[in-house]
Amino acid sequence: MKQSHKKKKILLSILALFLLYIIWLSFNLLTFKTYSSPALKSSPLEIEGVYHIHSTYSDGRKSLDEIAKLASQAYLDFIILTDHGRPNHESYSSQGWKEGVLALAGSELSVSRGHLVALDFELPSGYFSQNAEDAFYEIRAGGGFTIISHPYSKTQWSWGKFIEYDGIEIINGDTALKKNIVASIPSLPALLIKPEYTFLRMLDSPHRNLRKWDELSSLHPTYGYFSLDAHLLYRPGFNLLHLHLLLQTPLSEDFDTAKDQVYEALRKGRFYNSIHAAAHAYGFRFSAKEKGGKTAPMGSTVMSDSPVTLNIEAPFPFAKDIHLVHNGKRISSSNEERVSYDAAHPGTYRVEVYLSERSPLAKKIPWIVSNPIFLREDEK
Ligand SMILES: [Zn+2]
Ligand SMILES: [Zn+2]
Ligand SMILES: [Zn+2]
Repeated sequence: MKQSHKKKKILLSILALFLLYIIWLSFNLLTFKTYSSPALKSSPLEIEGVYHIHSTYSDGRKSLDEIAKLASQAYLDFIILTDHGRPNHESYSSQGWKEGVLALAGSELSVSRGHLVALDFELPSGYFSQNAEDAFYEIRAGGGFTIISHPYSKTQWSWGKFIEYDGIEIINGDTALKKNIVASIPSLPALLIKPEYTFLRMLDSPHRNLRKWDELSSLHPTYGYFSLDAHLLYRPGFNLLHLHLLLQTPLSEDFDTAKDQVYEALRKGRFYNSIHAAAHAYGFRFSAKEKGGKTAPMGSTVMSDSPVTLNIEAPFPFAKDIHLVHNGKRISSSNEERVSYDAAHPGTYRVEVYLSERSPLAKKIPWIVSNPIFLREDEK
């Protein structure tokens, strides 16, 4: 008799806990709302896409055609495939307009120091070297450029003296998914209803990557990338991490011209990164006013012997916290839609924007990360 009473009590407690959990999850899902920007798609000079995708050409679950269809449904302008290979010849040869989406293909090379993404290279007849530095020079000789993948996760990058790589990944979606799946068990049922919510709960603070990026940028212009590293779950993934490119002319319908436009923006750092599932970031700008009144966009190196005005535009009608970062240190913060700052010291300037109201992101995760403006002293 006593035994069954005890059992009943345990069952009731479990039921109560389960109910509390359902209430907690429902509350979180109901209050989770994506902000949208009023400037949504108003400029043909800003295009949006996703970088670092694996397809069935390597270890991804879907074919390029299926991936392009999902990208088109997510209103992406471009996608950048990075199938494994040194390089991946098949993936490279399949580039083109697919379902109205510009589908570009670089390759993710497994080299001596870790994983290195190569973009816009000339297809070699054979394979790139396994040695990281040799591969870098071969890619560069073929007109391409390189990005260090997930430097602190998965394969990790072993750092050497050579630091001339063009870019570094700041956030890697696949890392977050693999690393935090256990900690995210309470949010997992939400995958079925609002997968973006679960994904956002899984993201890690990117501060270690940001610190390394700042260190590299102080020695050599390096650009930062939000990388999805998708192998599966493409549909929710395409809403997660976006690159926003600033073009000089609207994206061409001609494939080769459009490809050059996208790669030119990446090579020059004329782009910013956003966590799209938290809020739509369209319309953000970071620029410098040069001596003769000329405007230099993010990614530029500005030579000057007098202070330069840095301008930030964040036309978002919700609360945000804008940090201006100089050589890795925050030097100003604001919640205005327009910010001007007179930069008197040379160095690397970049912007991080945090959501400060009903944010679905953890406190330390920036919603927007711009590319830097490098201020250099004019030699007289
Ligand atoms: Zn892979
Ligand atoms: Zn990798
Ligand atoms: Zn990858």
